[in-house]
Amino acid sequence: MLFTALLALAACGHMGQPGPAAQALQNPEAAVAWQAKPGWRNSHAAVAAAHPLAAAAGQEMLDAGGSAMDAGIAVQLVLGLVEPQSSGIGGGAFLMYWDGHSVSALDGRETAPAAADEALFLKPDGQPMAYSQAVVGGRSVGTPGLLRMLEQAHARFGKLPWARLFEPAIRLSEQGYALTARSVGLLKQDRFLIKDAQAAAYFYDAQGQLWPAGHLLRNPALAAVLRQVAAGGADAFLTGPVARDIVRRVREHPGNPGRLSEADLAGYAPKFRQALCSDWRAAWRVCGFPPPSSGHLTLMQILTMLAPQQPSQVLAQGLPGDAWLHRYAEAANLAFADRALYIADPDFVPAPAGDWRSLLAPDYLRTRAALITEQAAGTAQPGRPGGRSLAWASQAEQPEHGTSHISIVDGEGRALAMTSSIEAGFGARIMSDGGSGLAGGFLLNNQLTDFALAPRDAQGRPVANRVEPGKRPRSSMSPTLVFDRRDGRLLMSLGAPGGPAIIHYVAKTLIATQDWGMDVQQAVALPNFGGFNSGSLLLESGLFPASTIAGLRARGQRVVETDLPSGIQAIERRDGGWFGAADPRRDGVVRGN
Ligand code: GLU
Repeated sequence: MLFTALLALAACGHMGQPGPAAQALQNPEAAVAWQAKPGWRNSHAAVAAAHPLAAAAGQEMLDAGGSAMDAGIAVQLVLGLVEPQSSGIGGGAFLMYWDGHSVSALDGRETAPAAADEALFLKPDGQPMAYSQAVVGGRSVGTPGLLRMLEQAHARFGKLPWARLFEPAIRLSEQGYALTARSVGLLKQDRFLIKDAQAAAYFYDAQGQLWPAGHLLRNPALAAVLRQVAAGGADAFLTGPVARDIVRRVREHPGNPGRLSEADLAGYAPKFRQALCSDWRAAWRVCGFPPPSSGHLTLMQILTMLAPQQPSQVLAQGLPGDAWLHRYAEAANLAFADRALYIADPDFVPAPAGDWRSLLAPDYLRTRAALITEQAAGTAQPGRPGGRSLAWASQAEQPEHGTSHISIVDGEGRALAMTSSIEAGFGARIMSDGGSGLAGGFLLNNQLTDFALAPRDAQGRPVANRVEPGKRPRSSMSPTLVFDRRDGRLLMSLGAPGGPAIIHYVAKTLIATQDWGMDVQQAVALPNFGGFNSGSLLLESGLFPASTIAGLRARGQRVVETDLPSGIQAIERRDGGWFGAADPRRDGVVRGN
């Protein structure tokens, strides 16, 4: 019922051009088409990914006896080809893995070059650059961490030979794949990629026209790089001709050169971190990524501040009503206020009161939740977790976007949740051919713009998430694994792209499944909502009734309707098998058996 109602709403005008509010969130990965998705029932194993060819590559690995890790790596390598706007070997990722015994959190986040400093994004007058000026070019490119992280993940959790995982991506790069309408839609909106000669020759024809959707696009340069990495490991990417080509393009970028060096690439080290696991509601244990991601901490702050409510108290015609959305918006403001002050790379910035969990302490969150009243409080101030205050400045909210999420459960119950990113749609708009001289290649990330562009406030107090050499930028990525804490069984793997809205997309999915009894596909399709403590509550355009919007305004919320093109992938244990969901707002599917 709910699902049908949503589709009907979607059909009547959801897919319009981004309005002014979309610019507030800056979603270059705009919604390009709403596709109804049924949800997929599988009895043994499931692979959820943002593109059918990527999901099929994961399935191929599982069929060949691979683990969820093997499947995840193969999926990622194909995504880099078929979803070039979102993720790839020129970027980074956070990977959560359940091997049947324990949860691992692998950090393949990009790092700032050794030669970078907090003034990286300041103009000569000391003012921060405009976001687009900072993004496009070599300046924003961080050391790509994806391949070294995947290599170490495979060494620990892989079953198939490393080179086998590259076969689908190499095959598709050489034979070609049909360019998606989604990629074409995003390319049409992009003004910068055409200025990069390598990218322009790949995405546009000789007359400078974009290839149409369905065009068979071959990528021999990517195939060549993947062949080298399949044979020589991540060294073949982080040293030698590929690394030299990346560094040359970054440093010689006309107009906006960067500071990345071959030593940065050769020295890149992924981190095995301690996953954060939080009890929530009667029986769930929600495990997510610790800093440098803000994902789990901010997500769990919001979830914990909201008391459980029966669907009958919250939902009207299947959608959350104004009373609940108001409380959600206030909780989100409080959580994003803490995020802006405290969360950054833990190798550079101490946790409040010496422990990141101080942000999730029940007493602390009770005092925070007590600040929520029936009227909107406006901008929230950060709290003092552990009773301590810090002489830092809060970071202003900045756009983040351009990412993909993969969820996999294999036949032996191992599970992966990986969110992977080159940051903005098409990243820094620099394509490297890996020094091959062939057509195509891979795009370089602009992940350094996830640092605060302005490193200090007017009083000179530093922002925790400012650029420092070797530091990882704060993220919102929230790959999440959910367990039943009574018996330890895995219940769910999920995550999403969407910059800071990732936190809301994952929160929505967890609340709708746990508190409102929806299955994951219904939860994913539910209209999106969220705010970032920046003055407005965003609601997905055209999907909430006028009465809800009026009710929110009466409570003092500044409501802005906008595109919120989530790309949630989720798999849940249901009816003795695995039920997978993919977001109707993007091209994702679930494969399995
Ligand atoms: N760069 C963002 C982050 O790491 C993710 C961007 C996106 O999801 O679109 O949080």
